[in-house]
Amino acid sequence: MTTTATGYTAGDFAVRRNAAPTSVGERERILEDPVFGQRFTDHMAIAEWSADSGWHDLRVEPMGPLPLHPASAVLHYGQEIFEGLKVYRHPDGRLVTFRPEMNARRMARSAERLALPVPPESLFLSAVDALLAQDAEWVPARPGASLYLRPFVIASEAFLGVRPAKQALFGVIASPAGAYFSGASEGVSLWLSTDFSRAGRGGTGAAKCGGNYAASLAAQREAEAHGCAQVLFTDAETHTWVEEAGSMNIFFAFADGSIVTPPAEGTILEGVTRDSALALAADLGHRVEERPVSVDEWARAAADGTLAEVFATGTAAVVTPIARLVSPERVIETPTAGFGPVAARLRDELTGMQFGTVPDRFGWLREVGRAPAA
Ligand SMILES: *Cc1c(COP(=O)(O)O)cnc(C)c1O
Repeated sequence: MTTTATGYTAGDFAVRRNAAPTSVGERERILEDPVFGQRFTDHMAIAEWSADSGWHDLRVEPMGPLPLHPASAVLHYGQEIFEGLKVYRHPDGRLVTFRPEMNARRMARSAERLALPVPPESLFLSAVDALLAQDAEWVPARPGASLYLRPFVIASEAFLGVRPAKQALFGVIASPAGAYFSGASEGVSLWLSTDFSRAGRGGTGAAKCGGNYAASLAAQREAEAHGCAQVLFTDAETHTWVEEAGSMNIFFAFADGSIVTPPAEGTILEGVTRDSALALAADLGHRVEERPVSVDEWARAAADGTLAEVFATGTAAVVTPIARLVSPERVIETPTAGFGPVAARLRDELTGMQFGTVPDRFGWLREVGRAPAA
């Protein structure tokens, strides 16, 4: 293991090339029309951790199954966290990520909450660099498409018992993702879940952990049974206050130009897109506010004309308009069902920066490589 004062670099990762990579023809077919999360690149970045040795055995190796003992703590007690970010190809061939330091810091907070080892920011960032050094040709050139990165930490120690594992594994895998603008431009319906909660005070709602998603699947099934694409989660105690959509944060744009999102006080996940949308909206002259919004306020504002748009944000779809909120008692229709001017502007600014057609005036991009010459 090499650790310098400035932390880890891509050079700290030993590289074992995939001897049987995807053929060029097959890769080009995949990149022509990527289906999210179905196909993976030829390599993965891995770092091991143990309580005795800290982080060690940093490597990039062929994508493939992990050797995992059936008693590994992650399989029994759910000690797992993950991240999600994308690599974008610019017209000049630069490959960039968007605010990856925020993902690294969020992963550190998630690790603290799940009693997992914290991957240092430099380990997180250099694992991405090391992986991209091998798999740069997997970043799609198609407009709107990108390479989705999935960093994760799992408790790999083999034992049964409830305590923090003394061995863990940090990995980064990558999967080509299609255009952010496919579908959804007419807006999605959200199901107001009152039987289920995603997070309660003191729980893991602010951590990006697999357990939150496992707990949301029954609610998601209920949403789909009611013809809705996703769930809107409200506060666990009273089901009065809007929290988030389970993988996307929620925004309200009012007719007076103000933009509101519920405050991140432990039960919602603080999205990188959420933070970016808040900063951008303020920069564009909107009054932005993080304050509680009740379902009743939502209904009232939709009825009296003070509400203009509702939209959700996240790395995968960037900005998604919310067409309506459906509950057993009522349906609240959003005045603008599809992309209104605010959601469209935020989407265009964010994706413009990400894809290199709008100047990066906030310094949000980090170069992680160059596209190989075509
Ligand atoms: C990842 C995630 C989001 C969106 O975060 P981004 O950083 O914007 O992608 C929102 N809610 C939950 C629960 C999430 O896991």
